[in-house]
Amino acid sequence: MKIALYPGTFDPITNGHIDIIDRARDLFDKVVVTVAVNANKSPLFGVEERVEMIQTVIRQKRFNNVTVESFDGLLVRLARKRKATALIRGLRATSDFEYEFQMALMNRKQEESIMTVFLMPHEKYTYLTSSIVREVARLNGKYKQFVPPNVYLQLKRKMNADI
Ligand code: ADP
Repeated sequence: MKIALYPGTFDPITNGHIDIIDRARDLFDKVVVTVAVNANKSPLFGVEERVEMIQTVIRQKRFNNVTVESFDGLLVRLARKRKATALIRGLRATSDFEYEFQMALMNRKQEESIMTVFLMPHEKYTYLTSSIVREVARLNGKYKQFVPPNVYLQLKRKMNADI
């Protein structure tokens, strides 16, 4: 049984993340999407909201070998606990590389046996980030095509609540 964690903030999950999950679930028997609490980033959505949005996507897309959970701690420790041998990360452009390289090497220092696997999304998602979606939503622009329908509704609700 090959298990991978897909860690991130997912504030909120976008179609780019979903593309990566779909690729990862072809390569691994089980993929655990791990949502970082990331209090220092002060996310727009609380961790429970982020987990719930991902849960809905998994259910709707019938991603049967994908689960989601939140975590707040050392990633490799969770990986060991879940018997995962790989960490999935998405690489969009060279701008992602430096940070990802640093993280991957630091994680390798923590636990030699856990490998970081980089996956490239479809090129139509290479410019897509959660932060740009949040920004466009805040400014009431068009963003429906970048996120799944349940996330679109949650973003709309959140933005209206803030007005
Ligand atoms: P983090 O704060 O850990 O970077 P994110 O939620 O921003 O969390 O991203 C989680 C992972 O998903 C990262 O590896 C990121 O590069 C990747 N990712 C984010 N958006 C996309 C996208 N549009 N296409 C491919 N990978 C993506």
